[in-house]
Amino acid sequence: MERIYAPWRFEYVTEDKIEGCVFCHIYDNPNDDEKLGVVFRDENCYIVMNKYPYSPGHMMIIPNIHTDKIEELDDKVWLEMSLRVKQATKMLKEVLKAEGVNIGMNLSKAAGAGIAEHVHYHVLPRWLGDTNFITSIGNTRIYPVDFDKIYQTFKENSSKYFI
Ligand SMILES: [Zn+2]
Repeated sequence: MERIYAPWRFEYVTEDKIEGCVFCHIYDNPNDDEKLGVVFRDENCYIVMNKYPYSPGHMMIIPNIHTDKIEELDDKVWLEMSLRVKQATKMLKEVLKAEGVNIGMNLSKAAGAGIAEHVHYHVLPRWLGDTNFITSIGNTRIYPVDFDKIYQTFKENSSKYFI
């Protein structure tokens, strides 16, 4: 699928190649939060913008530890992630005026995970007609909003929602 407007993708391609697990790399490099799109860091997980968003504002909530099995996560970690999913949903509705929100995980390649080795929770805003819009213009997604602007807006609001 071709994306007409995807500055994140451009940056991703031009960055130094990340060796090993991308999500561990993000966790290990807090000084690059701005570049990598990290919205919030918690004790056991962090929230990052998806570099290949399905819709503008698509975030992921990722445990700090590397695992491909949610059943091996400490309950404390899982509960913290669940809380952040709930709060991220509220933020998308209020800040981006999302009319709906998809949340979910793809566990393992068989379930469609892009990065199967490190579990991650998707939280993405939806609007009525957004899929119709995508379909109607043929296999191409257009993002009229500035991704960096969304990131800055999320950052500015993070202390209000992630409490
Ligand atoms: Zn990892």
